[in-house]
Amino acid sequence: MRTTLMKKGLLIILSGPSGVGKGTVRLKLMTRPELNLFYSVSMTTRKIRPGEKEGREYYYVSRQEFLKQVEEGNLLEWNEFVGNFYGTPLDKVNQKREEGYNVLLEIDVNGAMKVMEKCPDAVSIFLKAPSFEALEKRIRGRSTETEEVIRERLGKAKSEYGLAYKYKYSVVNDSVERAADEIASIIKKESKQANLI
Ligand code: ADP
Ligand code: 5GP
Repeated sequence: MRTTLMKKGLLIILSGPSGVGKGTVRLKLMTRPELNLFYSVSMTTRKIRPGEKEGREYYYVSRQEFLKQVEEGNLLEWNEFVGNFYGTPLDKVNQKREEGYNVLLEIDVNGAMKVMEKCPDAVSIFLKAPSFEALEKRIRGRSTETEEVIRERLGKAKSEYGLAYKYKYSVVNDSVERAADEIASIIKKESKQANLI
């Protein structure tokens, strides 16, 4: 429970095309306790990848279960991305912000647009690759998708780049350490400003 002295935490959106490095940069940010972050684990109908764990990367559910959650209004936002559903559980976001945590969403561009509309105070960050070639290399290097899905994801990335201007911040993921440092500075600056209000 939040005490009267504790401020509500920020809502931070980390977004950008698939393969740009959102997950990698997020893991780096989560190693910094001073940022007071809580990572919002999404729900998805995508199949679990080798090395992933239920409740850590995602909550893996059937399409039927996902649509039930949508119907019951339990998701802050949701989207269909290259054949699978992904969504942000609403309760946890509210609860953790009330507890004073800065809640971090790692979501696709379409979902980010929806959150920005619903929560205009969200701190939105678009993560970019240094070049389109670098993005392609990263998504292929990850070796988690079929050729068809890789092509679909890369095709989507082009239109997603066109929406970068809608975000409050753009950060180039040239090196994971540097990008995480830049995002950490943004979070510290935004926390300070929020506490002045
Ligand atoms: P996303 O979560 O945006 O889909 P990932 O975090 O899974 O992307 O990263 C995609 C691939 O790119 C991974 O293999 C990851 O190790 C690699 N990667 C991430 N950031 C960098 C970087 N700054 N330089 C080189 N490779 C990176
Ligand atoms: P992946 O299948 O690579 O884990 O994720 C595919 C895309 O879905 C990524 O861009 C990822 O950020 C996004 N994503 C993950 N969780 C959510 C969510 O809850 N909502 C939305 N809209 N996108 C999400």
